Amino acid sequence: MAYSWQIPNIRSTIKLINYFFEQLLFPSKCVKCGVYLPPQIAGEKFLDSFFCDACTGIGISVIDSPYCTICGSTFPNSSDKGHVCETCIRTPLCLGKVRAPVEYKGIIQDAIPLFKYKSKLSLLKTLEPMLFNCFLQHYEYSNIDLILPMPLHRHKLKQRGFNQAYLLVRKFEKMFAKKRGLSPSWHLDLSSLKRIKKTAPQTGFDIKERKKNLKNAFQVVHPKKIKNKYILLVDDVFTTGATCNEAAEELLKNGARQVDALVLART
Ligand SMILES: [Zn+2]
Ligand SMILES: [Zn+2]
Repeated sequence: MAYSWQIPNIRSTIKLINYFFEQLLFPSKCVKCGVYLPPQIAGEKFLDSFFCDACTGIGISVIDSPYCTICGSTFPNSSDKGHVCETCIRTPLCLGKVRAPVEYKGIIQDAIPLFKYKSKLSLLKTLEPMLFNCFLQHYEYSNIDLILPMPLHRHKLKQRGFNQAYLLVRKFEKMFAKKRGLSPSWHLDLSSLKRIKKTAPQTGFDIKERKKNLKNAFQVVHPKKIKNKYILLVDDVFTTGATCNEAAEELLKNGARQVDALVLART
């Protein structure tokens, strides 16, 4: 008992020594251009620590109020109070609200495609907590029942090898329990919604074309599980919102009470 304080100390010293040798033998490289990065101090990693100075550019743009109370888009005039934006008035979303920690610009615009298309999964070390903190900020006290990562079509899942939305939330339950010391009242749902249509990439499509491309793309396979539930859809990027909205429409049609979206970045 008298020496119990030494145990965590020894552990953290071993961890530091391991980290030192790891840095020496396998120095980190910039995830974008591949140049070697200077040795980094062990501890919490931030997104810019994965990039060299030249690639860090403008860094990240954190989303702060004022923003649209529905779709979460920021208002250029910072003296504006939060209200509903013109796009949401003209073309209302099926989603209750959309929240994101950062705007899709700067290094996040590099980080997400590197994570998604080049399998730079080490970036999850910062992307995951970034999304989790945003979740706590907006949803900790909002009676969410289910967190539903946006499903991929089975062909795309096979081709990519992973579902990026699932990787972003797979540790949420553990992270919540660790941070708050109790089990969450919500849980992950990986089976209720399926993507049944192989859609063309949305890039280059306008809003109408995106909507048409996504028509009947989703199917609820377990309506009982979602009946009367408050669902939080999770995806990586929100551009026009066509994908999230189509999925929300399908969930609401099948009895969900409310569907919101949490995304890593929005344009
Ligand atoms: Zn670089
Ligand atoms: Zn809006």
